[in-house]
Amino acid sequence: MSITQQVQSLAEMLRDPALLRLKNLVGGIWTAAASERRHPVINPSTGCVIAEVPYSEAQDAHAAVTAAHAAFPAWSAMQPAERATLLKRWRDLIVENKDDLGTILAWEQGKPIKEAIGEVVYGASFVEWFAEEGKRIYGDVIPSPAANKRIVVIKQPVGVVGLITPWNFPSAMITRKAGPSLAAGCTVVLKPAEHTPLSALALGELALRAGIPPGVFNVVVTGDPAPIGDALTFDPRVRKISFTGSTRVGKLLMAQCAQSVKKVSLELGGNAAFIVFDDADLDSAVAGLMAVKFRNAGQTCISANRIYVHRKVYEEFAAKLTVALGGLVSGNPLDPAVSQGPLINRPALAKVDRLVSDAVQRGATVLAGGKPHALGGLFYEPTILTRVPPDAQMWHEEIFGPIVPLASFDSEDEVVASVNNTPYGLANYFYSRDIGRAWRVAERLESGMVGVNESWLSTEVAPFGGVKESGIGREGSKYGILDYVETKYVCFGGI
Ligand code: NAD
Repeated sequence: MSITQQVQSLAEMLRDPALLRLKNLVGGIWTAAASERRHPVINPSTGCVIAEVPYSEAQDAHAAVTAAHAAFPAWSAMQPAERATLLKRWRDLIVENKDDLGTILAWEQGKPIKEAIGEVVYGASFVEWFAEEGKRIYGDVIPSPAANKRIVVIKQPVGVVGLITPWNFPSAMITRKAGPSLAAGCTVVLKPAEHTPLSALALGELALRAGIPPGVFNVVVTGDPAPIGDALTFDPRVRKISFTGSTRVGKLLMAQCAQSVKKVSLELGGNAAFIVFDDADLDSAVAGLMAVKFRNAGQTCISANRIYVHRKVYEEFAAKLTVALGGLVSGNPLDPAVSQGPLINRPALAKVDRLVSDAVQRGATVLAGGKPHALGGLFYEPTILTRVPPDAQMWHEEIFGPIVPLASFDSEDEVVASVNNTPYGLANYFYSRDIGRAWRVAERLESGMVGVNESWLSTEVAPFGGVKESGIGREGSKYGILDYVETKYVCFGGI
């Protein structure tokens, strides 16, 4: 099938084909990149090119920054309630079009359609939350040390923000950043991941329809992120970079931002542990692990990467988990019966296979799965490895695939020390019915988030983010918007 036919067949799956946008959004206008180059978008479940988008370069990013910079004075001067009205309209349009947005997302990224629609709705919740939260960016009046002075603190939008987002949540990672940016009065230039530009462009189309003024929300897509990253980080008109992605790229962007002392928010990689104590409700722990491990075929930053089970319940837990694993169905993401899609690309599949082979070579045993799926392409079998030794590479790097590595432990102190022995600190989970232990362990784990008898952490009302090399800043909740404002102290004298 030609690319035109592929685009046509994707458009035919949509109620509103106009959501399929194949150009940059700059200053409210759908714009071709300066160069003629195009970048292919590949459906990971079929390996087919489904669309082509601009292969933008530095000058395209400059044009978008110019548009965002020009739009900033009027947008930041708008009353928060007016911005909230526009943002809520955007949120409503996202929810009204959730089926189409979910189809686009599933087709370019590979997650099952139910998860894709769930992500769209979850993403919309951040726009709604921050539309309201923008009305509550309070300042302070500080008691003055002198009778003839008054001290006031006000919060102001930081300015133009560069948003750089990953492919694993092509919709929600955008709204988690754009929601608070726009609500605070910032304007943005978004560079989505090269694998998943279509979800970003569709959000741009809905932002325009919502009446968000031209230049407030700009989208620049490409095949090579580095020139765009350079353009955004080195441009003094961009006052902040908000990035979600790997720790490696996060460090690079942070170093580049140092040149002009930009603010940064970084949501980076994780190496979450999942601990099952001997007093845990094992059925609930199995259900929690299945949910957090196999969402998006294991390609999430808060996916459980290291599973520690108390020696007393180890065999029973492994047996229950193996039964639960049998309920997973791999296949076409648009089939509602499917719960496991493909991995994103060939290197991702090769990495998962390498990590499994490495663990087995070091002494782990395959309890289920353990190889590329018979479906072929980018599918990998849901896998359980048991007795994974501590020197296995998968304990130390993000697996980003449907692999459960199990190890046993004997004491609380031992397991907490093992869990904290990583440069990452995004999320951890544990299951226990001892209230004292629940407090103790939650406090001792070095991560920005802890799930206690719960593996579903993501919600717009709570602060999402990491410590150590997992990041800086928080997304969601009342804390999330503070990353997009500056604190200004104003001293009134002569009173
Ligand atoms: P990645 O770092 O390769 O890419 C993320 C984004 O950075 C993409 O848009 C990419 O195009 C861009 N990028 C890459 N090199 C760049 C450069 N030199 N300059 C500017 N931009 C550049 O990560 P990925 O593989 O797309 O995403 C997976 C990673 O994201 C995992 O490590 C995962 O844990 C992390 N992640 C973290 C969170 C969180 O909230 N902490 C959420 C989702 C994903």
